Amino acid sequence: AKGTGRGNYQFFAPEMNRAARERLELETSLRHALDRREFHLEFQPIVALDGDVVRSAEALLRWQPGGKAVAPDRFIPVAEETGLIVPIGEWVLKAACAQFKRWQAMGVPLGRVVVNLSARQFAHRNLVSVVRRALDEADCAPEQLGLEITESLLMANPLEAIRVLTVLSDMGIQISVDDFGTGYSSLSYLKRFPIHKIKIDRSFVRDLATDPEDAAIVTAIIAMAHSLDCSVVAEGVETEQQLAFLRERGCDEYQGYYFSRPLPADTLMARLLAPSGA
Ligand code: C2E
Ligand code: CA
Ligand code: CA
Ligand code: CA
Repeated sequence: AKGTGRGNYQFFAPEMNRAARERLELETSLRHALDRREFHLEFQPIVALDGDVVRSAEALLRWQPGGKAVAPDRFIPVAEETGLIVPIGEWVLKAACAQFKRWQAMGVPLGRVVVNLSARQFAHRNLVSVVRRALDEADCAPEQLGLEITESLLMANPLEAIRVLTVLSDMGIQISVDDFGTGYSSLSYLKRFPIHKIKIDRSFVRDLATDPEDAAIVTAIIAMAHSLDCSVVAEGVETEQQLAFLRERGCDEYQGYYFSRPLPADTLMARLLAPSGA
């Protein structure tokens, strides 16, 4: 409707509710965000409980149109609905691999950078070649990349998921299931996927110390994952009590504000290169 007076009038007619108008404005500016270089990445360290060392970091997309940040939970769903997530996700992959290579050159002791994949990207027939190209351009090895796929995405189209994940996994890329526990996968199902890691959703970690049911679920997920030869990451760890619980139950890694918020690349580098270690 852009440029047509009547169309414009219709778009912004008073009866169009505020939420819909904001959604449309968000979508319009999101369309220009790549060209305007409004994206950047932050990185949250993933800490191994054994030895308390940081071996990898998760890339998290940040968008600041006109300098003002919009939360991923607001713009990612819009990017997903519009398909914009496909080119944006490709940018994330390239930027994350390029950053990893820069860290390597600076001697940062990180083994891997981890990138989130959305459903639309995953369904795209080019995904494997996009991933290959991102690795090639940055001169990164597949073993230096991890990909996170949500549990609900796996379940939406299991056969296709198995096919694509097998290719990526055979390349040497580490595959994690994100937001685990929020979907409906059963143990028998999960073992059919070429998966290396399970990330326990933040919602189960939050009340670990006070909610016996959440504590039981987390304990069960850790045991189940280990029986499938998967390692386990707990996300959203904010307190010492949560960490102590996870340690006691044999969780492999954690991520959360307790250790560090997502950080700009240079800040993470400074922290990892500091003499005191992580
Ligand atoms: P996610 O993949 O589950 O990422 C973890 C989210 O939890 C991040 O939010 C992170 O900042 C937040 N977080 C980390 N530690 C804590 C903690 O201790 N407490 C609490 N309350 N939160 C914590 P963020 O960065 O706002 O991202 C939200 C979601 O947006 C992500 O959830 C992911 O689904 C999506 N997202 C972010 N970047 C990308 C991307 O590059 N591509 C795609 N497809 N999705 C992305
Ligand atoms: Ca994630
Ligand atoms: Ca997650
Ligand atoms: Ca989550």
